Amino acid sequence: MRFDIDSLGLLEEAARALESGFADLPPAAAEDDGASLRRVLGEVAGRLHDNYPYFHPLYAGQMLKPPHPVARLAYALAQFINPNNHAIDGGRASSAMEKEAVAEIAGMLGWQTHLGHLTGGGTMANLEALWVAGRLRDGETIVASSEAHYTHRRVCEVLRLPFKELAADAQGRLDVARLARRLRHGGVGTVVATLGTTSRGAVDPLPEILALRERYGFRLHVDAAYAGYFVLAGNLDAPARAAFERVGEVDSIVIDPHKHGLQPYGCGCVLFRDPAVGRIYRHDSPYTYFTSSALHLGEISLECSRAGAGAVALWATQRLLPLVRGGAFAADLERCREAALALYARLAADERFLVLEPPELDIVLWAPRAGSVAGVSARSRDIFKGAAARGLHLALARVPTETARAHWPELADDADTVTCLRSVLMKPDHLEWMDRIWLILDEATLASGGG
Ligand SMILES: *Cc1c(COP(=O)(O)O)cnc(C)c1O
Repeated sequence: MRFDIDSLGLLEEAARALESGFADLPPAAAEDDGASLRRVLGEVAGRLHDNYPYFHPLYAGQMLKPPHPVARLAYALAQFINPNNHAIDGGRASSAMEKEAVAEIAGMLGWQTHLGHLTGGGTMANLEALWVAGRLRDGETIVASSEAHYTHRRVCEVLRLPFKELAADAQGRLDVARLARRLRHGGVGTVVATLGTTSRGAVDPLPEILALRERYGFRLHVDAAYAGYFVLAGNLDAPARAAFERVGEVDSIVIDPHKHGLQPYGCGCVLFRDPAVGRIYRHDSPYTYFTSSALHLGEISLECSRAGAGAVALWATQRLLPLVRGGAFAADLERCREAALALYARLAADERFLVLEPPELDIVLWAPRAGSVAGVSARSRDIFKGAAARGLHLALARVPTETARAHWPELADDADTVTCLRSVLMKPDHLEWMDRIWLILDEATLASGGG
């Protein structure tokens, strides 16, 4: 079996237990027409065949990770209620569960107090953090590195905040010397540091950025949408570890439970260190329907309606897999990084391939050797297709030629960007599957005429 279908029996059990809590209601469920449901669901299953196998270890491409069964089941269970976490009135239990789950994420970051909530995803969470930053540092520039997520620039356009991108260093990290020069120039209100860039998993040097904050007093936002949970991993190299160790000192953090947190899509999280920023959200709409004085999450969120089911799924997952160092969840993250190091070691020892520096987290970028930038790109695309034809799904990523030549100076410079191969090894199973992954990569590389 490739899907965990057996656990669906538990969903029926739990749904009956949930229903029993409403036993005093007169029956009002609509009759369902089993035959029509079966027909449509059969059609849906057929349509969904048209997907890459994201759930399988031989999918080693983009940043896609299957939700944990407990998240899938708890989400489905909550759908019988379909709570809306905008207001306590719309989702009493799920609002409480959201507050508890988010407090656990804050605790993982070392925060005893915080303000925060779940969002539709990382982009919305960053939008919210930068909206607050813009309110507190009105008219001042937001600075991020060229390897920061592409949405920061757009978010700043939406918010009409001045945005400055600084070229990243050859490791894909925010360039501290460039940042210091920009800060001396003045007018910087907020710096965005990325702990775990989307393309390479690079970790910006937070200790050095914090030292600059001492001197220049900017607001510091950390985008850890992809990699925030690595704060729990015990096997990072010193620079990344030093950055994660000090993550609690920043002003706001974004972390996506739907990236590495085993959640279905639609689950980001924004956290502020100072709960007093809640005042910025104040509004007095006449049609919100608050009937209690406890905190309604809609009062501290830019979005109005939000899926209570997402909070229930996250709560259940953290119940099963607490966010603690040395726990099962942390051990799985450590295996992801081990898988990345294992792939990197094989690539680095094989002269058919070009590699960058060893992965800081669980993303590996590499390229097949060729004489020129354009030649490398063509062979990357060839291997990408050849591997997919053999059942191994990789990803492609473009790297600026300047960055590539810092690592591979022998390449003839005949194009602006180099297309490389990229694997996000975010399933712990990738480690056990490395022999099989390598075998297919080897075959696809031989077939592409290299080596
Ligand atoms: C994925 C990602 C985002 C965007 O998050 P979404 O959930 O896709 O909206 C932002 N920043 C980083 C670093 C990311 O990896």
